Amino acid sequence: MKKVKLKINEKVIEAVEGKLLLEVAKENGVRIPHLCYEPRLKPYGSCRLCLVEIKGERKLQPACATPVKNGMEVITDSITLYEIRRTIIDLLLSTHPEDCLTCEACGRCTLQDLAYEYGLRKTSYQGEKPHTPLEDHNPLIFREREKCVLCGRCVRICSEVQGVDAYTFAGRGFQTIIATAFDEPLSLKNCEFCGQCVSTCPTGALVSRLEMGKARSWESKGVMTTCPYCGCGCQIVLKVKDNQVVGVESDYETHNRGNLCAKGRFGWEFVNHPDRLKTPLIKKKGKFVKASWDEALALVAEKLKFTKEKFGSESIAFIASAKCTNEENYLLQKLARVVFGTNNIDHCARL
Ligand code: SF4
Ligand code: SF4
Ligand code: SF4
Repeated sequence: MKKVKLKINEKVIEAVEGKLLLEVAKENGVRIPHLCYEPRLKPYGSCRLCLVEIKGERKLQPACATPVKNGMEVITDSITLYEIRRTIIDLLLSTHPEDCLTCEACGRCTLQDLAYEYGLRKTSYQGEKPHTPLEDHNPLIFREREKCVLCGRCVRICSEVQGVDAYTFAGRGFQTIIATAFDEPLSLKNCEFCGQCVSTCPTGALVSRLEMGKARSWESKGVMTTCPYCGCGCQIVLKVKDNQVVGVESDYETHNRGNLCAKGRFGWEFVNHPDRLKTPLIKKKGKFVKASWDEALALVAEKLKFTKEKFGSESIAFIASAKCTNEENYLLQKLARVVFGTNNIDHCARL
């Protein structure tokens, strides 16, 4: 990878040629505000918050869509840039509901953070605000489109990462909204309910229905763990409040790059469920009763031995688990083949 030298705010920096200026700046401790940029998505350059001055360029350039070049001299902060960014945020607020007090996104909302940073208590462009119907009947995704800033991240993640294309921009100008085809509910469309759009939305326009009302963003702490559903081993961050799981989020700095499927994103309520199995159960006189692992494993061994002796090795089959390590699955097939004399072995990853 060819390296180049450039200057950001007078500081000489070395970077990989072609890398996006916004990412190079971030790696070197220079924060450039942005709304539509997302590391999982292709450069888009629509919100214009990341405009920077580049020596020799006639126009301001979006740092999120500009690759670095050798000899580039970049200014990321100036009075002009400050005024432009403040005006953009002011305009976004002019169509935005004043609902931070009860908004699910409060405390983790990029628009709220930007308004705070640029000292905008309220918009200076008072006037009509768009009224777009809520989609509040979906059990997983709550859509409050009046809080949408039209960054297009949901549209792009659904298309570029999921390949589903459930959303698009509809309407023009003041009437522009994010919609499904014919603006029908997500449940009537090709949506897979992966929640990727929820994970990328920088405001409260898309939120997980399951997390609503359970915790303010600052009340829960993140606990990184591995998703329990399949062998991909995606990393998830459990949001935990008062020792209860209240939601799941994902982190870009993992092998799954913050991407999760519907199970990983929305399948967490079982953790707190009172019916969740926490010990083995053995059926005695028609009823399941709690047992220790030693008791349960002894019973399994006894039944397997009995079945082999009475019905033969071919009457037994073993199903391995994608959640186990390769070594554990190797041992299971050894147990099947060597101890029980059967090749009836399968794996849940094939199901
Ligand atoms: S989306 Fe952000 S700015 Fe809008 S009401 Fe919610 S917290 Fe406030
Ligand atoms: S949940 Fe997934 S499939 Fe459905 S709209 Fe969002 S990103 Fe697209
Ligand atoms: S719903 Fe969220 S992610 Fe989609 S365009 Fe609006 S603000 Fe951006």
